[in-house]
Amino acid sequence: MEVTAGLHWVDSIWDTKVYILLEDERVVLIDAATPGRAGAIWRYLATLGYPPEAVTDIWLTHADIDHMGSAAALQARTGAKLVTHQADVPLVEGRAERPLGPGAGGRALQPLFNWALGHVFRYQPAKVDAAVSDGDRLGDWLVVHVPGHTPGSVCFYHPERGIAIVGDALNYKLGRLGAPPKLFTVDMAQAWASIQKIAALAFDVCCFGHGPPLREGASQRIRAWANARLS
Ligand SMILES: [Zn+2]
Repeated sequence: MEVTAGLHWVDSIWDTKVYILLEDERVVLIDAATPGRAGAIWRYLATLGYPPEAVTDIWLTHADIDHMGSAAALQARTGAKLVTHQADVPLVEGRAERPLGPGAGGRALQPLFNWALGHVFRYQPAKVDAAVSDGDRLGDWLVVHVPGHTPGSVCFYHPERGIAIVGDALNYKLGRLGAPPKLFTVDMAQAWASIQKIAALAFDVCCFGHGPPLREGASQRIRAWANARLS
């Protein structure tokens, strides 16, 4: 489904959103779903008239299994440049454990979660080509660091076009905006500060990691929601 001109959402992947960005110079995949999802991405890309080899970049909003799971497979087929915030690079490369939330539930589930990444999801680590930081530019897109859910969560923001791709820093389910779930959020206070940071940007279109996009007045709506929650 086309969200806005040149930006598509691979709608056959229902659980996590993978976006395809078509620009003059490049074809970008934004996020990589769970493992085993490369085929669905290639099939969608084919409907747009592009072979896998056309993909030049893969940008990750953050290093969760449902956002980076197929990154190694996508990279192997395309040779595309894998871009991640520097704080999430060890997670993408399989050199660190993804900590759950600091509450009792997170501590209790951590061993099971670690086991599931290797044995159920069978995560294949990927090699990051470009570790980015807050304020870096990817062409006309700005990297906005929005930590909290993971240390290296980012929003990809296009100020001129008014588009924000926020990963799991925010979600939009059943018509309601939401903060990332506590169990899977390393620092909830930081996550709320990041929501405020997103709310201070100006954009019409917001693409979430989970839930359909908002296509009109998105930043105003997020600002109103965040202010009401925090007041
Ligand atoms: Zn996540």
